[in-house]
Amino acid sequence: MDAKLLEILVCPVCKGPLTYEKSQQELICKADRLAYAIKDGIPVMLQAEARELAATEEVR
Ligand SMILES: [Zn+2]
Repeated sequence: MDAKLLEILVCPVCKGPLTYEKSQQELICKADRLAYAIKDGIPVMLQAEARELAATEEVR
């Protein structure tokens, strides 16, 4: 994913920074523990579409 695109993207819930999880093709918000999917290279920045991270999942 484009690093510049990642720089301008923020979490739609808390407006905080996101972490790109390359292996899972997800953008992670550590504050909300939400994972936004990247579909066909396009991040789906919708809270309704986001996946809640399991308590056991490590957030880097
Ligand atoms: Zn957030």
